[in-house]
Amino acid sequence: MTENSTVDVLISGAGAAGLTLAIELARRGVSFRLIEKLNDPFRGSRGKGIQPRSQEVFEDLGILDRIVALGGAYPRQREYRDDGSVSESDAVVREEPTPAEPYHLPLMVPQFLTEGVMRERLLELGHRPQFASELIGFEQDEAGVTARLKGASGEETIRVCWLVGADGGRSFVRHALDIGFPGKTLGVRAIVADVILKGLDRDAWHRFGDGDMQRQIAICPLAGTDLFQIQGPIPLDGEVDLSAAGLTALVKERTGRNDIEIHSVSWASAFHMNARLADRYRLGRVFLAGDAAHTHPPTGGQGLNTSVQDAYNLGWKLAAVTAGAPDALLDSYEEERRPVAATMLGLATNLLDAMKRGDIRRGREVHQLDIGYPSSSFALEKPERSAGLLAGDRAPDAPLRGAGGQPTRLFELFKGAHWTLLGYEVEQAAMQPRPGLHIHRIGRRGDIIDEGGHFRDAYGLASGDWVLVRPDGYVGAIVASGHAWALEAYLANVGLAA
Ligand SMILES: Cc1cc2nc3c(=O)[nH]c(=O)nc-3n(C[C@H](O)[C@H](O)[C@H](O)COP(=O)(O)OP(=O)(O)OC[C@H]3O[C@@H](n4cnc5c(N)ncnc54)[C@H](O)[C@@H]3O)c2cc1C
Repeated sequence: MTENSTVDVLISGAGAAGLTLAIELARRGVSFRLIEKLNDPFRGSRGKGIQPRSQEVFEDLGILDRIVALGGAYPRQREYRDDGSVSESDAVVREEPTPAEPYHLPLMVPQFLTEGVMRERLLELGHRPQFASELIGFEQDEAGVTARLKGASGEETIRVCWLVGADGGRSFVRHALDIGFPGKTLGVRAIVADVILKGLDRDAWHRFGDGDMQRQIAICPLAGTDLFQIQGPIPLDGEVDLSAAGLTALVKERTGRNDIEIHSVSWASAFHMNARLADRYRLGRVFLAGDAAHTHPPTGGQGLNTSVQDAYNLGWKLAAVTAGAPDALLDSYEEERRPVAATMLGLATNLLDAMKRGDIRRGREVHQLDIGYPSSSFALEKPERSAGLLAGDRAPDAPLRGAGGQPTRLFELFKGAHWTLLGYEVEQAAMQPRPGLHIHRIGRRGDIIDEGGHFRDAYGLASGDWVLVRPDGYVGAIVASGHAWALEAYLANVGLAA
């Protein structure tokens, strides 16, 4: 057994949550190890819906364009009825983007492709997951966590400041901490399988037997691949044959068609649907993120998105506290993210009920654009606001022009690891510049010009107001002119003292 020197963070699990966290830490120069017990990257398509809010997150992480290029839009759903009739409808509500919300359509990207792009981004930043390395035990004390890892060359003990369990629904870390995971088993078992097949076009999401839990089956062409994803409920007990022959027989039985033939299966799984939420997201120096903290039915495509956004919330806070910010910032992770998961569990369960009735529609509520943290300890308004944009809200985008003449967007200004302070029609600087804070003045004599009035419309500010935007794109503070002093204390609490 070997003992290694201290790194700041150990991330257990290199799924979507662990990879996002690793990118966040890497781009802030925090030392970490990302371990994954599997020998190779996960091969399944399961979390294939990338919601508009995650697209914004991916833009900030520098991976959105690559992910869009690999994936595609959701095809229309084609419903085949027992009487032989066929109808088509949109699988997702189609809305044009707006200046404040540049992405409105969920994207379809098989999870293995999304994770592949994340690994590529991580590599650009100088890191890679360590496969075949399993967390098998840990102990924490006031100063850190001692973790035991098992790998190909034996066991290893490492000392870290923080441990993050991004280790999926069966989380070893959650069990080891004895954190409760209350909720319900939803009485639905389903299969998901990625297959090569013949007999169906790739221009539609084929749905048979909608509304009948004994018979329904959905077969979706997976953008960016030659594969189709098969999903359908199965009996609660008993063996299920996930081979090509077994799936061909299942599809024949459910669709009544002899012409659909499955040639090969690249990944398949049978699973019970649960809706569960961890009692705590933090115990001392150990955190839970992603499916380790919440599991839910796949209806509505929320799981991967919520997991990515957990990590996006935690990453900058871990980096700030590692660099000396007060520890209370880390408590705000559970304070902000646990209520989001609680709401999401309700949404996914309601959508499962709708699926059972055969009338599932996924609208704005699944886009995650309205998620915010208005009750957070790190949401400051001076004076308190009653309307318009509030502290804790997602900071909207806006097309703008730099004083130098070139077009830009607020999201361009936000992109990166820093905080952003925006002054609207302000006369003078509110505070001293400091590392980690970008200050812009928006207005006729500012460095940024609100030519189309989009910033004014989205933010609803009065002249002289200041808006402080967090590294994860949420509004930390809104202060009116004359209250700018309040920002000093706020910034000190997040590690940005002058
Ligand atoms: C059929 C289906 C469809 C879905 N569709 C969608 C969708 O459209 N949109 C969406 O957002 N979500 C969807 N999901 C959910 C999504 O797949 C998950 O929410 C997502 O994978 C969670 O990511 P994660 O990183 O938290 O966990 P995981 O992806 O489970 O990753 C955890 C990793 O930790 C590793 N690990 C576990 N224990 C250890 C250990 N002790 N040491 C080291 N490594 C360890 C595991 O091997 C694993 O790789 C779907 C899920 C299913 C089943």
